[in-house]
Amino acid sequence: MALDAVTLSQLIDTVQRFVQKRLVPLEAQVAREDRIPTEIIDEMKEMGMFGMTIPEAYGGLGLNTVEECLVVMQLGETSPVFRSVIGTNNGIGSQGLVMDGTEAQKQHYLPKMASGEIVGAFALTEPEAGSDAGSLTTSAVQTEQGFILKGTKRIITNAPSAQLFTVFARTDSNLKGARGVSAFLVDADTPGIDLGPPVKKMGQQGAHVCDVIFTDCRVPESAILGGIEMLNKGFLTAMKTLDRGRLHISALSVGCADRLIRDSLNYAMERKQFGQAIAEFQLIQAMLADSKTESYAARCMVLDAAKRRDEGERVTTLASCCKLFSTEMVGRVADRAVQIHGGAGYMEEYGIERFYRDVRLFRIYEGTSQIQQTLIARNMIKDAS
Ligand SMILES: Cc1cc2nc3c(=O)[nH]c(=O)nc-3n(C[C@H](O)[C@H](O)[C@H](O)COP(=O)(O)OP(=O)(O)OC[C@H]3O[C@@H](n4cnc5c(N)ncnc54)[C@H](O)[C@@H]3O)c2cc1C
Repeated sequence: MALDAVTLSQLIDTVQRFVQKRLVPLEAQVAREDRIPTEIIDEMKEMGMFGMTIPEAYGGLGLNTVEECLVVMQLGETSPVFRSVIGTNNGIGSQGLVMDGTEAQKQHYLPKMASGEIVGAFALTEPEAGSDAGSLTTSAVQTEQGFILKGTKRIITNAPSAQLFTVFARTDSNLKGARGVSAFLVDADTPGIDLGPPVKKMGQQGAHVCDVIFTDCRVPESAILGGIEMLNKGFLTAMKTLDRGRLHISALSVGCADRLIRDSLNYAMERKQFGQAIAEFQLIQAMLADSKTESYAARCMVLDAAKRRDEGERVTTLASCCKLFSTEMVGRVADRAVQIHGGAGYMEEYGIERFYRDVRLFRIYEGTSQIQQTLIARNMIKDAS
């Protein structure tokens, strides 16, 4: 159910104030120390930010897709690392459970995820299965007591702080590709789980990823997400989760673009060369105008697709269109922001180069741009046949 207009506007104002007053001043420190201060995480918990998309019945804010996108656009106005810390609980770490979990599973996990007491992570990617996630080889062998998980998951966001993994594993080796894969809810303290060493990344310092290794990790049958009737159907859960997740990343890209455009405009109006503000030069104006136009186009796309999803439409193709356009768009906007700032854009002090590195990730995870293109075209051909 949608929030009333006043409550939604109050929520957006609160997030905007939090971003501007608390998060923006900490951007450089978080990048330097590779750590978000505990008090910031506690404030996010108090604001309900870990459970924005979790239904109210389970202690969350129950935002619909449009509302989520509007809030995430505000969060995009600061380093995306702050969004990353709440990202899995609102997206890939919780939505499978929200959409396909049994009532008992929802009661057990969702209230703790909504409060931020536990962090959820989504473990799909493997060393040899990235874009081709359907070829995953992590196995879940059925025994009389449940299942035994074996395999390695790679680059798993928030794995070092997670208490719950949604693990995708092959339960039927006779079925090829995405069929024969099930999703399991696995507590991080289950014996047989090891975390790989810390991984150094290109950007988003303060958000952590690592491998998750399963060695004879025993889980009961009740750990199958959605119960035994979801055996071998875990990939459907993963794909539905990604539809919403891709709109979330698209909204985040719009927010980051707006921040970069504002910083670029301010800089261009202040910086003088040849006796005048560089904003007076038409070649600078062209970059500003292109960035503004593309960011506006992405905003319209994201809100349209989000509205359609809230109305019950299947938005797989549109979510891919949004992710493809918005994430590529913010890459171009970040590149122009560096250019408009000149040498300052390349210097750590101004934070523009940090954003440039941070937003680069959006074109890679939750399906690369090439995978979005492939998906969009495949669905177009399917619909036309
Ligand atoms: C910081 C970070 C966090 C992540 N967090 C998570 C997480 O929480 N959970 C999780 O499960 N995964 C996570 N991932 C993994 C991410 O989803 C994968 O990196 C991504 O899906 C791409 O897979 P890959 O890295 O194996 O690249 P590959 O699949 O090897 O792709 C390499 C290149 O080949 C291209 N390519 C591949 N197939 C095709 C094709 N059919 N047509 C055209 N081009 C193709 C790709 O577009 C890319 O350009 C994360 C990754 C990063 C970097």
